Amino acid sequence: MIDFESLNRAYQRDGFYSLQLEVGDRCHQGCIYCYMNALSEIRNQLTGDIITDILYWSRDIGISAIEWLGGEPLIRPGIFKFMEKAGELGLRNNMWTGGLPFSDKGIIERTVELCQHGLISIHLSTLDTSLYSLMHPDRPVRDIDTILEGVEHALKSGYPPGQLINSVTFTGLQTAEDMIRTMEFFYENYNILTSINVYHTYMRPGISDKQLKRFIPRPEEVSKVYNSYRKLTGSGKLPMNCVNKQYCSATLAVLNNGFVTPCATIREENDHMNVKQKGLDRIVEDNREYLTFGLFKNMENLPGACRQCNMNSECWGCRSRSYAAGSGIYGQDPRCFRAGVN
Ligand code: SF4
Ligand code: SF4
Repeated sequence: MIDFESLNRAYQRDGFYSLQLEVGDRCHQGCIYCYMNALSEIRNQLTGDIITDILYWSRDIGISAIEWLGGEPLIRPGIFKFMEKAGELGLRNNMWTGGLPFSDKGIIERTVELCQHGLISIHLSTLDTSLYSLMHPDRPVRDIDTILEGVEHALKSGYPPGQLINSVTFTGLQTAEDMIRTMEFFYENYNILTSINVYHTYMRPGISDKQLKRFIPRPEEVSKVYNSYRKLTGSGKLPMNCVNKQYCSATLAVLNNGFVTPCATIREENDHMNVKQKGLDRIVEDNREYLTFGLFKNMENLPGACRQCNMNSECWGCRSRSYAAGSGIYGQDPRCFRAGVN
């Protein structure tokens, strides 16, 4: 899964461990809380030539893992060819699929094969059919079975459960109890862990803040989910989507329109940072501090609450939450759910 030695080395050197690569924005899963408003039709897609160039640049700048993102990456034509190329260049393949393409067993088997040194993440935020319909109004509830059958087939094909995760979004639409049931189901039936992305105010053009607020869960609900996770796994760890500040710093994103940002959830478009105009290697060289959140590597620059916090050797809050709240990438995380969880 994560090679912490390489990750920490990359962090120490102001380098990069993983590249979030959005191959295209098309997705059929229709999650109403989607941070990028992915639709069933293509609006932006990186060309095959650019993806190939990005893979070579990734190798050259010392990236260890490609996080294949979409939309739905598994419906991008040629995806397996790109993953093969990544493997040839010594890059790990981590596939972040919603899971619907797993209705095709051939796709599961190929994904399993190409992600043998990485991970496969699926996305099933509830097992409750009414909630599923609420969160995916244009989809049939049969999707739940499609995704679960896909997981079962991946496991039968020999894929280790420790390399599979269910990456969910905990929103204000689910209750903590529902989220806990989903986590327990995956852990008890498949030995698969859940990675929780707590919804926050992503910036979404065309959707008002008021509409987005209903997706933000109450802090007490988040605490309940976190505490149950720790009891369930006995790990003492929180089920964070992003591992730690080292991962946050050493991750880089190329969005489906070619813009390069520190993270796919920070959808900032800087004219001088687009792989359609300039090589990723040069973009990284010219913007290293911005892309690694370099200022925060000096603890004195952390926001007040983080300077005092006993978790600050591994956390500096989510930079995207600060950005979305209008404080730029270096503000206090306005929804720190970690501190005070007991
Ligand atoms: S205050 Fe919150 S965001 Fe800051 S280091 Fe502590 S846990 Fe992380
Ligand atoms: S900005 Fe937030 S979502 Fe992005 S890598 Fe950092 S912690 Fe994770």
